[in-house]
Amino acid sequence: MRTKLYQIDKNRIDREKLREAGLLLLAGELVAFPTETVYGLGGNALDASASRKIYAAKGRPSDNPLIVHIADWDSLSKITAQIPEGAKKLADAYWPGPLTMIFPKSDLVPIETTGGLDSVAVRMPSHPVALELIRQGGGYVAAPSANTSGRPSPTEAKHVAEDLDGKIAMILDGGSVGIGLESTIVDFTEEIPTILRPGAINREMLREILGEVRLDPGLDAENEHIRPKAPGMRYKHYAPKAQLTIVEGSTEAVVQKINELTKEKTKAGKKVGIISTDETLDQYKRGIIKSIGSRREEETIAQHLYGILRDFDEEDVDCIYSESFETPKLGMAIMNRLLKAAGHQIIDV
Ligand code: AMP
Ligand code: MG
Repeated sequence: MRTKLYQIDKNRIDREKLREAGLLLLAGELVAFPTETVYGLGGNALDASASRKIYAAKGRPSDNPLIVHIADWDSLSKITAQIPEGAKKLADAYWPGPLTMIFPKSDLVPIETTGGLDSVAVRMPSHPVALELIRQGGGYVAAPSANTSGRPSPTEAKHVAEDLDGKIAMILDGGSVGIGLESTIVDFTEEIPTILRPGAINREMLREILGEVRLDPGLDAENEHIRPKAPGMRYKHYAPKAQLTIVEGSTEAVVQKINELTKEKTKAGKKVGIISTDETLDQYKRGIIKSIGSRREEETIAQHLYGILRDFDEEDVDCIYSESFETPKLGMAIMNRLLKAAGHQIIDV
């Protein structure tokens, strides 16, 4: 299949191109598009065969459900069987935005879209290109991240092309995404609303609106025997090709340890990558050193996380050492992704 690539300026959307993209979705084809979190791989959520195509293009296990993206409030009641008060309040506060909520599903949603579950995950994104595509494409767009399953999520259109060129009908290139990490997922099928995946809407922001919010016990790396409730959080994910190790501790100790490890590995003939920050970049001596962003602006760290993992794949390094990023607002979401990318390999100094 030839994949059509369109550049779209999010401030001056070309409606003709979006109409063409919407028609592809209505015909059961797949279109990748920018959102404020990461690039999504869209298909008509109400069309079982489109959902099957999404799983096939990504190589995604078919029991890992898709998030349904909507563009207006009225669409929500058509695909859900029940909307609790708390969810309405959260939607008021954070939709459109990087928040996904899980509800009991209505019969309109095929089980191919929900990975066989009787619940459905729903999000209203804020990116203008995403919203226009959803409107033009029938109102319900199933969209996982637009990467090959197991690779870091795409934060630029070129990442999408790397993984999916030739496998999907169209890629809409709207430039770099804003946040760089997938949406927060809150499960409303539980008695107490439960965070299944941390994201830019953090626990504090949820508490402000809901009062009580639980964290899925399966997210805690210490509880290896408890499975995360979101099927997608169970798979090894976001992984770079090289073994990634996170080094934790005071900045000074971390820099020293990474320098030591890099020296050893380099002597043994290995190619080493280092994930540093703007603040520490010039304190490393050897290896391929990249800055992920600035600790003074934690948003920049989230934005560059997946891109830097892909860059190291291209450099073909043998191992990667990373600093740890327990930043105030996004730290939980960043570390959730980084720990998974590292297969929970951590050195404490
Ligand atoms: P992605 O589309 O790649 O951002 O991944 C979507 C995430 O949402 C995966 O971790 C899914 O397992 C999770 N998810 C989607 N729908 C449900 C659901 N009904 N119940 C639990 N988790 C879900
Ligand atoms: Mg994904």
